Amino acid sequence: MSTLRFQALKEALNREPVKVIEPGRRSEIFSSHVFNESIMQQFLTKEAQKSVMEAMLTGKKIDRNVAEHISSGMKEWAISKGATHYTHWFQPLTGATAEKHDAFFEPTSQGNAIEKFGGGALVQQEPDASSFPNGGIRNTFEARGYTAWDPTSPAFIWGTTLCIPTVFVSYTGEALDNKTPLLRALQAIDQSATAVVKYFDKNVKKVNATLGWEQEYFLIDSSLVASRPDILLTGRTLLGHSPPKGQQLDDHYFGSIPSRAIAFMMDLEIECMRLGIPVKTRHNEVAPNQFELAPIFEEANLAVDHNSLIMDVMKKVGERHHLSVLMHEKPFAGINGSGKHNNWSLATDTGVNLLSPGSTPMKNLQFLTFFINTIKAVYDYEELMRASIASASNDHRLGANEAPPAIISVFIGTQLTAVLDELEKVTNGKLSPQEKTDLKLNVVGKIPEILLDNTDRNRTSPFAFTGNKFEFRAVGSIANCANAMTVLNSIVAKQLKDFKVEVDKLIKDKKMKKDDAIFNVLREYIKKSKKVRFEGDGYGEAWEKEAKKRGLSNNKTTPLALRDRVSKRTIALFEELDVMNKVEIEARHEIELEEYSKRIQIEGRILGDIARNHVIPTAVRYQNILIRNVTGLKEIYGKDFKKQAKEQMEIIESISEHIATINSKVNAMIEARKKANKIEDVEKHAISYCDEVKPYFEEIRYHCDKLELLVDDELWPLTKYRELLFTK
Ligand code: ADP
Ligand code: MG
Repeated sequence: MSTLRFQALKEALNREPVKVIEPGRRSEIFSSHVFNESIMQQFLTKEAQKSVMEAMLTGKKIDRNVAEHISSGMKEWAISKGATHYTHWFQPLTGATAEKHDAFFEPTSQGNAIEKFGGGALVQQEPDASSFPNGGIRNTFEARGYTAWDPTSPAFIWGTTLCIPTVFVSYTGEALDNKTPLLRALQAIDQSATAVVKYFDKNVKKVNATLGWEQEYFLIDSSLVASRPDILLTGRTLLGHSPPKGQQLDDHYFGSIPSRAIAFMMDLEIECMRLGIPVKTRHNEVAPNQFELAPIFEEANLAVDHNSLIMDVMKKVGERHHLSVLMHEKPFAGINGSGKHNNWSLATDTGVNLLSPGSTPMKNLQFLTFFINTIKAVYDYEELMRASIASASNDHRLGANEAPPAIISVFIGTQLTAVLDELEKVTNGKLSPQEKTDLKLNVVGKIPEILLDNTDRNRTSPFAFTGNKFEFRAVGSIANCANAMTVLNSIVAKQLKDFKVEVDKLIKDKKMKKDDAIFNVLREYIKKSKKVRFEGDGYGEAWEKEAKKRGLSNNKTTPLALRDRVSKRTIALFEELDVMNKVEIEARHEIELEEYSKRIQIEGRILGDIARNHVIPTAVRYQNILIRNVTGLKEIYGKDFKKQAKEQMEIIESISEHIATINSKVNAMIEARKKANKIEDVEKHAISYCDEVKPYFEEIRYHCDKLELLVDDELWPLTKYRELLFTK
């Protein structure tokens, strides 16, 4: 009997929801573990406070002496909150977060001890980070990298550790992390967008990109996960027959949240409150055991940090509840996968959302300017957008009959489509007063009331306008949003920069009025970027054909999608904006390809192992039972036994066939892996894993799943889908 599975099931069935006690009003505990402005007032001198605020708002460097004051204040605060250690918290290119804890504690020469945390330790650290992926940067340049404080994201206490958000760069200045390029991209969008906003409002000094992510995930009992080597090691099931009941009835979506899950969510939310993560919504998602969590949007760098942090917090809180949190994009075949919608907009320091239509024609022209420029940017760089979200796990969603497709398009709704159609007809050159009045009254002036009924949100679109923001829906649930945000903010920054040049040129050379110039440039952008706009069903084959005609890319697999990350245009884009240089770009490309190959390699090994060492022996055991049964029937009935043993003999044969196929396919997969491993070129290596190794997964799985249906349930060693899902 397969003891591990039944033991796990027994444990899972006997579990009660963990009691969670609210520590008080959530508004009162909010940010209690964050070194924010009000804490600074208590623990820092005026001078130190001013210096941190300036660093946050303008990026001004912090003086070493002042850093001493800050670190000492931070230490006192952290110790008063029970912290014993500090760490530079950063986001290496593995996509996860990294930390190395150092104690505040330090022995003195008199045999006593003190707590110490100097300015140097706050501002800069040198982790022994030689095992983080660096795509050859460190070999080519310096052997070491260092972490440096990012004062735009406040320090926080997680557990008993003071975490200081930092960037991670090599000694020659190349970014070795996800945060550095993001910060540079955010600076670029600030510059370009602020320059453009000044056409409409001279008082704006800064524009921030805003991000509100929605995190989808699965919760599975941890004992059940422990009984599945595939989930444990790859984050997803590599085999398992679909349950008789899945999500067909749509009874999980927005349904009442199971009690163990709600306890987990409460516990998680309390931690988030302390950490200053403004989580707001929680609900069931479409698939059984699938949930979603979303905060109120924040400045993009902080939002990215909070998403990275929460993914870690979720895992730790999950442990308390004996729940494994699966963030993989496709943990279970046959039911919905998970994504991470990135809601994005631009906000001025005067409090205006630039993607929100306003109450006057002028405000709406401002809205249209940012709206149309964003669409144009996505059109020009759709392939790079696709590349920014490419990964082995996200390939299971993109282009694999699941939302959204691998083709990047923009959905804006029928009403805004009508507005753009009107603007496309604007006169070439100077506009007559009559035309302008007409535009203001009937097109630009009408937008706010129109948007209220912009309800037909197209769920199949990878990039949709949803009233006052764009929603990038193709981002993977396990991804660090920094990648997608770096690309999106860079392409819009570049676009706005070009827009400014074109408008200024018309004003100067053609002596056009500002409005006329803006209308003229926007008209051309609308025409040029029309091909990326798509309002229909993004799942269908019809769209694939249509998109091909329009010249849009459709890169279904990661190795192909990643190519655009190193294209001439991409390098030119990032170099022009000082987001990344060629070395950094190429290093990242290499790391991403390597990561892809490794993931497929690991999955292949595990699948081979499970098929050979779990599935086949179990099938043989059951076959032996049947053989004994047939032999017994023969003894009783003599040569007439076949009448009684017919079904059993069919199953015996069927088992033999499945076993033979599994065995030969596993052998062939191993051969394909060996071949792939010999290829030195990183891209060809990845393509080989994609095209030659991965296709065996489905075939092997098919036969294993058939055996699951044939073999006695008592003998089956792997916890089944119906047991993994549907937790109460
Ligand atoms: P859904 O997409 O599930 O229908 P909503 O439209 O209510 O949900 O919003 C989803 C997310 O959009 C939330 O996380 C919210 O914080 C975020 N959001 C709202 N406004 C903005 C904005 N201006 N910038 C960035 N994100 C935003
Ligand atoms: Mg959404």
